[in-house]
Formats: sequence, structure tokens, C-alpha cells
Amino acid sequence: AVEARHLVKNYGQLSVLRDVSFTVDEGTVTTIIGASGSGKSTLLRCMNLLERPDQGELAIADERICFDRNPQATSQGLSRIQIQRLRSRATMVFQQFNLWPHLTVLGNVSEPPIRVKGMSRQQANKLALHYLERVGMAERADSYPAFLSGGQQQRVAIARALAMEPSVLLFDEPTSALDPERVNEVLGVIRDLADEGRTMLMVTHEMAFAREVSDQLIFLDEGVIGAAGTPEQVFHSSNTRCRRFIAPAA
Ligand code: ATP
Ligand code: MG
Repeated sequence: AVEARHLVKNYGQLSVLRDVSFTVDEGTVTTIIGASGSGKSTLLRCMNLLERPDQGELAIADERICFDRNPQATSQGLSRIQIQRLRSRATMVFQQFNLWPHLTVLGNVSEPPIRVKGMSRQQANKLALHYLERVGMAERADSYPAFLSGGQQQRVAIARALAMEPSVLLFDEPTSALDPERVNEVLGVIRDLADEGRTMLMVTHEMAFAREVSDQLIFLDEGVIGAAGTPEQVFHSSNTRCRRFIAPAA
């Protein structure tokens, strides 16, 4: 379902991703772990072109994009349509929720399909309610984000990502901005999505959760994949830096 091949991303002199390749099979969950600054968010942001890779290739569902060595060719080669198509196939849930404060819960979830897919408001509202129900937030459809707890806001953000009916859901530390007592309600929603066979690519520091729900675990180390495989394989990796990173959770 998702394929990254030889992705390279630099910020000036800083190489953040150095030849990263992996596949996320349809209906499976892949979790990226690694130290702060190892490039996890950058990798996730490259998957929906919030960041533009310098080199490599990305395939999500039927959309395949090749990034050239020549930056000029890259900007010419990618149309707005292509970028928008890729973004609607890979939707992101952010650490800080990023809900629109001036829209209701319903508005937050129905707006993207209206804007990006040209869906009618009536149809989009119906879709939005469906996904709000899915995350247990339908009864708050008319509330504004400021009146919700962090956990509730994050569940709305998940419904918003689902409403685009993407091929893959991207989660960047979805629980790390939450009060401890709110973490489990969001992890519960993500676990349900995993159980129903959604394709997901996630960054989290919740190691026990990652071990439980992931089909594939990737340890990112200074922009390189240091270890990858099933959670059990990675928890017992021969890579010493990986073992040291995981030790407190193992
Ligand atoms: P954390 O666990 O702290 O979220 P991370 O693994 O997500 O870390 P990234 O946010 O991907 O790490 O950052 C990787 C490196 O790239 C860091 O050194 C960071 O300072 C740098 N970086 C990230 N975004 C930019 C940017 N827009 N411009 C310049 N440098 C950046
Ligand atoms: Mg990050």
C-alpha cells in the first residue's frame, strides 16, 4: 500500500534522512521509533509532502512520485494536483491536533472532503457524523474545539483524517501532548482502527503500545534505518544502539 524508496532529505548541510526505504503492507501498522532528532517527523511529513524529499521515490496506493536529484526538475515535475492527490491518500494526525478553532467539531471533519474532494456539504456532514461516531465524538458535533479536552480534540482530529478515506493514516506522536489520563482513550481509538485493518504509519514513544499493535517496527537512527522487523525482532535486535534505546521499555 505504501512504499518509500531511497528517500533523502537535507536541510542545508544537515542530512536528516539518508537513504530510507521501507514498505507498509495494506492493512498493517508500522511504527517508527528513535531518539529525538533522528528524523521521525521529517520522514512522516515526507510521506504526504508536507516536506519535499530531495531524492527517492514514494508510492501510496496508485500514486507514485519520483524525486529527482535536480531540484528544478522536482518543482516542475510535481503538480498541485499530484500533491493534493497524495495528501488525500495519506492523511496526518498531529501531536498538537491542529483543529480549526473557528469551526465546530462537525465543521472540522466535513470541511476537508468539501474543499479537497468537492463533496456536497450535506454528504460531507453525513460522512463526518459517521466518523465522529466511530471515535465516540458524535454527541459533541456542535461544540467548538476550545471546549473539548485534549483527548477529545485528538479523537476529532482522527475523525477528520478518516473522513478523507485515505489509503494510509499517519500519526505523529498522537498522545504526547495529552494529560496522562487522556492517553488511553486515544490509544484505544488507534487500537480499534488497527483491529479493523486500517493501514497506518505511526511515530510514538509509547513503546508498550507500539509493541502491541505494530506489525512492523522501524528504529530510525540519525536518518538511517538501524533495525526493522516485527516488534519481537526489533526488541531483540543485534543493533546495540537500538537495544540501548529500547532497554527501558523491554
Ligand atoms: P522528536 O522525537 O524530537 O520529535 P524527530 O525524530 O521527529 O524528533 P525531526 O523533527 O524529524 O526529528 O528532526 C530531525 C532533524 O532535522 C533535527 O535535527 C531537526 O532539528 C532538523 N529539522 C527538522 N525540521 C527542520 C527544518 N524545517 N529546518 C531545519 N532543520 C530541521
Ligand atoms: Mg518528531
